[in-house]
Order: sequence, then C-alpha cells, then structure tokens
Amino acid sequence: MTTVAAIIKPTADAPFEVGTIERRAPRANDVVIDVHYAGICHSDIHQAREEWGKAIFPMVPGHEIAGIVTEVGDAVTKHQVGDRVGIGCFVDSCRECENCLAGEDQFCLKGNVATYNGREYDGEPTYGGYSKQIVADENYVLSIPEGIELDVAAPLLCAGITTYSPLKHWGAGPGKQVAIVGMGGLGHMGVKIAHALGAEVTVLSQTTSKEEDGKRFGADHYYATGEEGTLKSLRGRFDLIINTVSADLDIDAYLSTLKLNGSMVFVGLPENTQQFRVFSLVGGRRSLAGSNIGGIRETQEMLDFCAEHGIGSQIELIGADEVEGAYDRVVRSDVRYRFVIDTATIG
Ligand SMILES: [Zn+2]
Ligand SMILES: [Zn+2]
Repeated sequence: MTTVAAIIKPTADAPFEVGTIERRAPRANDVVIDVHYAGICHSDIHQAREEWGKAIFPMVPGHEIAGIVTEVGDAVTKHQVGDRVGIGCFVDSCRECENCLAGEDQFCLKGNVATYNGREYDGEPTYGGYSKQIVADENYVLSIPEGIELDVAAPLLCAGITTYSPLKHWGAGPGKQVAIVGMGGLGHMGVKIAHALGAEVTVLSQTTSKEEDGKRFGADHYYATGEEGTLKSLRGRFDLIINTVSADLDIDAYLSTLKLNGSMVFVGLPENTQQFRVFSLVGGRRSLAGSNIGGIRETQEMLDFCAEHGIGSQIELIGADEVEGAYDRVVRSDVRYRFVIDTATIG
C-alpha cells in the first residue's frame, strides 16, 4: 500500500479537507498514475452531497483524471512509464457479459466499478482523481495523445465521452442538423465535437449570454429558449437534439423541433420525473432516448478524435482549497466551462 495525499469529503455534510488515503500496491495488470489534473463533474457534487442516495464516505471524488504513468505491473502491455494517460467514470467491469464483450462496458450487466464512491469486486472502496496518485487496471486506463494538454484533456474523460458517444450513435455528421441544449460543461463539449464531426450545430440555451463562446466553439446558430416563441420558430428543424441540462423541460416543445425520424437524447439527469405526450413522438416517428458516458474503446476513439481536431475542454484551473467554492459555482452554472483541479496544490 502507498499513502497518498487527497482532497477528502469526510461526510456528506462536512467540508472537503486535505488528508491521505491508501492506494493498493500495483498488481500484475495495474498501472500507477501520478494524477496531474482532475476535472469537477456535476455528478461529483451530487454524490459528495449524497443527493443521489446513500454514498460511501470518506469520499474522494473525481472521474475526469489526467496524468502520467510512474510504474507498471509485470504483465502490463498497454502503457509504459512516462505515458500520458487518463481515467474516466469506471475502473473495472465484469469483462464477460454481453455488453462488456460488445465493447459497451459502460453498460456492464454485473455493474462496472465506479472510479469513486464504488467498490472493487473484492469489496474495497474506490477513491477518485482528487488525489496525487491512482492505481488501476491497464484495460481501464486511456491513452491521451500528444496534441492535447493534460489539463484540458481531463474533462474529456466524462464530459467529452458523454457527448461524443450519442453524437456518434445517432449519426451526427455532414448534412445533419444537431441541437445542443445547455451550454455548460457537457454542452460546450457537445458543440465542439458536433462541429468537428461536420454537423450544422445549434445551441439552445436559456439566454444568449454565452453566444459568443458558443459560436467560437463551433455553433452555427444560437437561440435563447427563455424568449417567447423560440422553439415554435424551430419546428421540424433538427435531426438530433442532445439535452445536457438536468432542469425540467417542456419536452413536447423540444420534440416538435425534430424532423421526421429525429431523436432527442438525454445525457443530463433531471431529478424529477419528466412528462411528454406520446402524440409528440408518433407524429413524426420520433424517438426519445438516453445515453450514458461511453465504453473504454469508444473513449479512446474520442480522445484520438479530439487530439486530431485540436479539441480540449474550456477550463478554469483551481487549487485544492478552492473545491468547495467551485462546487457552489457549478450549482449556480457559474463556470466557463469546467473546473479542473491542479493536483500539485494538494498537500
Ligand atoms: Zn462525470
Ligand atoms: Zn460486464
């Protein structure tokens, strides 16, 4: 075991403090990673504050991890000491169910091992990226290509793949009209990736306050949904809508902006049950769907794609003592567009 400095949430109600955790000694297939940067995902906040049901404490959140390999186990073949690597939302899966075998290990039927607030299959709790070091099986460690800086790469491991996967699955590309709902951590990545895939991209945001950024990220059009009549004016416009917001929406109004065979895909997670009229679907053979992160294979594909197209996240770099304040700002949507912790500031 190695003692490692980390940013720890002792309980749901207590503030973060810097302390130490134990990391396992590397097994034959393990990679030891010196964590350089860790992104702050909104789901970190939900879990650290126990808003999604009972959580495991003490907690070290963080599933947008970028760093450098410092040690490898005897059987490791995929990574070498000095490699630039990342870890996303899970660090193991059963590797033998139908979904794992299909490369859709994010939907492992046994349940994959979450990077933090989870348990390894042997029962040990997992601790995430708000720490100086992490140890993980090589098959769940991604390569970060040269051409993306590690700090702006970190958020790709969750926000990037969460938007890339549905954009690919539902065929975003040349000749397609894609709408991104929300211009936050997920939404801004969706805009960049959809644009790089060749789609015509529209942002649907509450206001036009982020329009300049949106257009810089690659949006062709930008509309304020807070303005009366906006969605009505977009009837039948889109092939695909990616909804990144977790607020309640007038889903029927959004469905009406889809073309024949269009799909509206949820990647944000509203707390409340959402409602819609089935008429809104059958009228245009439309689909309402959901998507959750992506598999390891597709996450690597996404990182390679982002490197090729010069895509990173737009970030605000913060120190270890700024996490509490950053959480409050994320809840207020006051971040452009992802907080990333510089782990050199821990301890
Ligand atoms: Zn996340
Ligand atoms: Zn599985």
